[in-house]
Amino acid sequence: MPLLAIRHVPDLVLRTICARVENFDEADLGVLSADMLETMYDAPGRGLAAPQIGLTLRIFVMDVEWKTGTPDPRVFINPVITNTSVDRSVLQEGCLSIPGETCLVERPVSLGLKWQSLDGTVATGDFDGFAARCIQHEMDHLDGVLCTDLPSPAKGSAA
Ligand code: ZN
Repeated sequence: MPLLAIRHVPDLVLRTICARVENFDEADLGVLSADMLETMYDAPGRGLAAPQIGLTLRIFVMDVEWKTGTPDPRVFINPVITNTSVDRSVLQEGCLSIPGETCLVERPVSLGLKWQSLDGTVATGDFDGFAARCIQHEMDHLDGVLCTDLPSPAKGSAA
């Protein structure tokens, strides 16, 4: 499987609001998501959204466990956050599209997510810790938002 080229800022594809995946039959989503995962592992990273490889569709892949030795590749299509915790945390985030930079971002600690799998089946789940953090970062990519856009709590500008 080929590695895909990761787009970096200021590539405008990273600023595009991505379209929902509507056709689960003809779109070769299995090949695409496998290539995205391989590209993410190679980078190396723990999350990769479609616009980061130049495709403006609402898809991201994630594996928050592989660096600890137990791979857990996940594919999320048309993801929607259904609820977020009141508890929030502040953490440094890195982004494969913004090499050499990190952002200090405040986000909810846990969330509920609804998404579709490769065959279009709707799934739901609750996530916390690094997975919840990663999901929110990748979801921002699907709306053309980068972590460098978000208010830094260190600057006292967080809501
Ligand atoms: Zn990113």
